[in-house]
Amino acid sequence: MRRDTRRLLSWSPRAAGIYRNRHSAPPVVRFTVVMLALMGAFLLGRASVPPPQATPMPLRSPGPTAHEIPGEPSVAPTRGRERTGGVSTPEKLPAYLRGFAMPIAGAKVPDNPRLWPGAKREYRHGVHQGVDFYVPYGTPVLAAKSGRVIRAEVCYVEMTPRFRDQLLAATRELGKTPRDILDLMYGRQVILDHGIVDGHRVITRYAHLSQIHPAVKVGALVRQGQIIGFVGNSGTSSGARGTRDDAHLHFEIWVNDRYLGEGMEMAEVGKLLRRVLGGN
Ligand SMILES: [Zn+2]
Repeated sequence: MRRDTRRLLSWSPRAAGIYRNRHSAPPVVRFTVVMLALMGAFLLGRASVPPPQATPMPLRSPGPTAHEIPGEPSVAPTRGRERTGGVSTPEKLPAYLRGFAMPIAGAKVPDNPRLWPGAKREYRHGVHQGVDFYVPYGTPVLAAKSGRVIRAEVCYVEMTPRFRDQLLAATRELGKTPRDILDLMYGRQVILDHGIVDGHRVITRYAHLSQIHPAVKVGALVRQGQIIGFVGNSGTSSGARGTRDDAHLHFEIWVNDRYLGEGMEMAEVGKLLRRVLGGN
């Protein structure tokens, strides 16, 4: 027993009598020892070089850039973004997108992407540039932010269905919606100027109104939440037919001649709309 223990403690291939020297070892044993040595070296090598995923991730990355939120390329990022489960969301909106309220009391950003900016409008061969809030005809429309009236289409006269169809025929022929035709199809509209925020000019448009509030005149100052008009369907095919069908507010936010959501993926547009209009 003691002799066995001593033999075990002093064990080595040579002492164990497996082989006396390198050249005398049988080929199978030599092969096994070399392979074990190579595997050991390989494992040691791996352990000394951390795998790529072990590289610490930065907690913060650069803030929102111009192509993520419409505006100028010179947009100064306000804050960083936080990584949450691999999905990064802007921590804070840039100043020019803050301070908006819903233009319809109690409304929510619609879930249907067809009602968001960027949705196709096949009937006029163009793209939607605002958000549609489908609410009953006559619902008050509120200023989304304090500002000055720069347009109040108080003299709007509804198109005849025939004339409207002629305009749509032109969009078909051109494969796009010319600016003046689009403007006419907004119907009775109001545009508010919210000033220049950090070098970004911000305006909002309220279209298809049934009425414009008498206090809303070009140059007048309106406060956030003030009633500027009432929901209707002016400029739409239903409006041209003289019905009250299809009543909705078409609402746009423009930043430096680009509509909110312009050039963005639709999924991102929805998120941005909720962040801008959803109580910030
Ligand atoms: Zn619309």
